[in-house]
Amino acid sequence: MSKNEIPYKIYLSENELPTSWYNVRADMKNKPAPLLNPATHEPLKFDDLRPIFCDELIKQELNDTDAYIPIPKEILEFYKMYRPAPLVRAYCLEKKLGTPAKIYYKFEGNNTSGSHKLNSAIAQAYYAKQQGLKGVTTETGAGQWGTALSMACSYVGLDCQVYMVKCSYEQKPFRREVIRTYGAQITPSPSDTTEVGRKILQEFPGTTGSLGCAISEAVEAATKQEGYRYVLGSVLNQVLLHQTVIGLETMTAMDKYGIKPDVIIGCAGGGSNLGGLISPFMGRKLRGEADYQFIAVEPASCPSLTRGKFVYDFCDTGHVCPLAKMYTLGSEFIPSANHAGGLRYHGMSAILSQLYDDKLMEARSVVQTDVFKAAQEFARVEGILPAPESSHAIKVAIDEALKCKETGEEKTILFGLTGTGYFDMYAYKAYNDGTMGDYIPTDEDIAKGLAGVPRFPGNEF
Ligand SMILES: *Cc1c(COP(=O)(O)O)cnc(C)c1O
Repeated sequence: MSKNEIPYKIYLSENELPTSWYNVRADMKNKPAPLLNPATHEPLKFDDLRPIFCDELIKQELNDTDAYIPIPKEILEFYKMYRPAPLVRAYCLEKKLGTPAKIYYKFEGNNTSGSHKLNSAIAQAYYAKQQGLKGVTTETGAGQWGTALSMACSYVGLDCQVYMVKCSYEQKPFRREVIRTYGAQITPSPSDTTEVGRKILQEFPGTTGSLGCAISEAVEAATKQEGYRYVLGSVLNQVLLHQTVIGLETMTAMDKYGIKPDVIIGCAGGGSNLGGLISPFMGRKLRGEADYQFIAVEPASCPSLTRGKFVYDFCDTGHVCPLAKMYTLGSEFIPSANHAGGLRYHGMSAILSQLYDDKLMEARSVVQTDVFKAAQEFARVEGILPAPESSHAIKVAIDEALKCKETGEEKTILFGLTGTGYFDMYAYKAYNDGTMGDYIPTDEDIAKGLAGVPRFPGNEF
């Protein structure tokens, strides 16, 4: 197919939207390990999880067998407000780089939350409402998840309480106001509104908080209020499942134009956008129908896949959550304070961890000044001001395209552009001012984090 036949932006029509999510676990030979009770180390069953999560979402969390899970009509209606998302051919970036590679990106920043998070937020809010609950609690780091969830909750008519990591709460006052505009209550974490928050404040006075700590507070808040449940914007199997709309749309669009990606790249924080983008393609690879190279990109300052261990670990700092088997840096690992690029979670999705351990996916870590350089280069030619998180994927897509320039290979590169960076201007400012530094944890720092991983029979490392 000649270049001119492929438009800059491939938009599917509404009736080409996927009507089911794809559950890659059904095609995985080695299933992700089950969540464990932190006290007994027994696998958690449906009833164990009911005090924390909504019933329907627990079923999705535990479902390793159904390949397709229908998307309820009401969620599809909501998706239609901002989906299908465009698949863009980065002609201008290709030209600027002088590469023979073809570069595509799937753009998830076309909604007010500014990221892909809304794809799961609406599903979680919908199931909570269906169950007759009053509200949900959650944590937010950079703020995109809190925004997405507040949007979804106001749409379905559900109370929403957000614990926002204190340093983000202070650094991103406008993010906070967007969340309040959608009617959610927002509390900087750690706070004195929960037992675990008070304990953390006492132990670490002056702490600016972490995701792991905000999760502990949100879980406690959910279990202590009648009619409330906790929801999470990444990491969990159910979240990856909802995010497969990204990959399914991309696959439909590419198949329609006869495009086959050779390399598929995504940034990885807790793994939901990457898992969502690659799942349908990974399914083809697992079933032996096609082959692709998958690359997860993480910050060098929070390198869970590239330097962590694949073991059971706590999901949160307060240790109130189940144990998950994942690549982890330890629940007490906190990335350097000067780290500005997001993707700060200490662990990684159990599904992606298993795929990585099975060598079905690669991982790379990149330093933040390189990430912002790539962001700037991309913004100047493609127009979109990318989120720092997304720019990790841009950086590696550019690296791969430049490799093609050397070898003359005409590879097709696909990456996930997860969102926009309008609320990250302090980070851009630091880069533009030349004051941004890179911090790579020493082996000692990594060992210190890993020392907090629980050891029990079967979990030695
Ligand atoms: C939350 C977020 C990420 C990282 O989360 P994953 O679960 O790893 O996808 C990446 N990009 C943006 C814009 C985000 O908001």
